[in-house]
Amino acid sequence: MRSFTIRAESVGVRRAIIRQILDEVIAEVRSIQPNLPVIMITAYLSEQGGKAILQGPAEFIPKPMRREVLLEAVQRLLPPKSVYRRKSGSTVWHVSSRCTEWPTEKFEEQVFSSPPASGEFCNECAVKQKKNDSC
Ligand SMILES: [Zn+2]
Repeated sequence: MRSFTIRAESVGVRRAIIRQILDEVIAEVRSIQPNLPVIMITAYLSEQGGKAILQGPAEFIPKPMRREVLLEAVQRLLPPKSVYRRKSGSTVWHVSSRCTEWPTEKFEEQVFSSPPASGEFCNECAVKQKKNDSC
């Protein structure tokens, strides 16, 4: 996380400096991780000016900020969640209900935004998911 203190008398000068810093910070973030979600909260840019700087997955929130607006922005930027199932006692997780092995009885079900860290991931589900992603 970066923090800046801007000491300039004119609001216009402050806006120009902040805009230049934000341009550089966003460019650096995008060069390292292009799809990293970014939320920009500032009182020094208009909504239009803020959105002009941001590219990729990002939200701009002008100050004063309401808590609900921030929560909605976070929800929009979070990766979509999927329902994962595995047969009771099995270590193999399934994500596609079109999988021939999709558990329909005696299963454990969890919601994740990415494949579960523990256990294995079904190959058939991986193929079906990849096909959906490329459409
Ligand atoms: Zn499967």
